[in-house]
Amino acid sequence: MKRVYALATGAAVVAAMTLGALSLKAGDKVAVCHVEGQKSGRAHVIEISINAVLKHLAHGDSLEGATGLNPGEDCDPTPEPSDTTS
Ligand SMILES: [Zn+2]
Repeated sequence: MKRVYALATGAAVVAAMTLGALSLKAGDKVAVCHVEGQKSGRAHVIEISINAVLKHLAHGDSLEGATGLNPGEDCDPTPEPSDTTS
């Protein structure tokens, strides 16, 4: 039996893979690096319902950018690989 994923957009697939790796379940809160605005370029960590993750990822937020940070702290929504020296 095949399951049809109605939300199989690229973002949804990425989020599902990431959330699966984090072993989260529905109803859990997750930390994301939330972009305050495209113009300001500023971002900070917020905790949101797992159900709201896709909406935030859609406007540029990052799960990786919030790793190791607490809510309210500044974050980088587009972290670069730390081993890149070029
Ligand atoms: Zn957001």
